[in-house]
Amino acid sequence: MYGTIKTQLRDQLDRIEADDLTKREFAITSRQGSHVTIDGREVRNFCANNYLGLANEPSIVDAAKVALDEWGYGLASVRFICGTQQIHRDLEQELSAFLGTEDTILFSSCFDANGAVFGALFGEHDAIISDALNHASLIDGIRLSKARRLRYRNRNMADLEQQLMNAADARRTVIVTDGVFSMDGFYAPLDEICDLADRYGALVLVDDSHAVGFVGPGGRGTPELFGVQDRVDILTGTLGKALGGASGGYVSAKQEIVDVLRQSGRPYLFSNSLAPSLVAGARRAVELAAEGDELREGLFRKADLFRARMTEEGFRLLEGSHPIIPVMFDDEQQAVQVAARMLDQGIYVIPFSFPVVPRGEARIRVQISAAHSEQDIEDCVAAFVAARE
Ligand SMILES: *Cc1c(COP(=O)(O)O)cnc(C)c1O
Repeated sequence: MYGTIKTQLRDQLDRIEADDLTKREFAITSRQGSHVTIDGREVRNFCANNYLGLANEPSIVDAAKVALDEWGYGLASVRFICGTQQIHRDLEQELSAFLGTEDTILFSSCFDANGAVFGALFGEHDAIISDALNHASLIDGIRLSKARRLRYRNRNMADLEQQLMNAADARRTVIVTDGVFSMDGFYAPLDEICDLADRYGALVLVDDSHAVGFVGPGGRGTPELFGVQDRVDILTGTLGKALGGASGGYVSAKQEIVDVLRQSGRPYLFSNSLAPSLVAGARRAVELAAEGDELREGLFRKADLFRARMTEEGFRLLEGSHPIIPVMFDDEQQAVQVAARMLDQGIYVIPFSFPVVPRGEARIRVQISAAHSEQDIEDCVAAFVAARE
């Protein structure tokens, strides 16, 4: 009986509204891309994770269509019963070849990959040491394990070392970090993390969702950027950002780790197989990322251009090189106002304020895509300038 629960939930929603925390959705009436249609109006989109511009790439759409005809719409089964087609194994092998790992296991999302990995590999005699700013899916996934949980301050190596000492009696210890922190565009210092892991005999797990496909000279992600590809033990990542932007996630790691996940990863055992059209689209996306030097060069050239032009115009940015570029505001209200005025000028950006980011660190997070033109970048800068007046 719903009864008084209705009132309780209404109150809960009213409190969210009163705190200005209600999330609203704009319905896009076009494909995803650097330009989208909202409310019948075309706007330039600077808030998608469409780093390589592949969300609307014709050869990926075609590969998905061909797979619909050849492999059908869905599997109606989990992988181990009757839900594995040849293309699932093909994509797993191609991801392993791209990432330089021994094997890969697919999930419906990276949220599920992170929900599988900790419970399957770490138990009550183990310790999981996690960066304080890790993604929600890592935090939730870690909660599903019976291991001891320790946390270190964001990218703080002295604190990480302290936690490693605190975990000295554990059977297995794993250090868990995002490769890129999505609110800042900062990289985790994987070289230092791997050094500490070696010194204390810990494993390293990196969730490279905001890096795979475009960070590092060959797009292999933050381990490649830091020259530690053979020292990161477990990679998790998404197919829903640079690698085509549809859905899917993976864990890519040493053979035994992947084998254990196929036996004991709960979202793998108890959730449906990735649909064949998504698998085929992702295979094409991985192929494009592997040969994507030009896409990456364009992406980082435009990110650099945006950083340089905004700095010239006197805006304060968080420093870095990642295509996540936070434009900082002293005043939360101003960030909200600037974003609203920019939308009026046809530039779609999102403001973030407390509690998503610390108080006093309100920002508009701009995300550059290889699909943006230099004119798009200039127009975005011009809109920031006009909107701040
Ligand atoms: C986006 C993201 C995820 C979630 O990926 P999905 O495949 O959409 O579930 C997980 N971890 C990190 C770090 C992310 O940025």
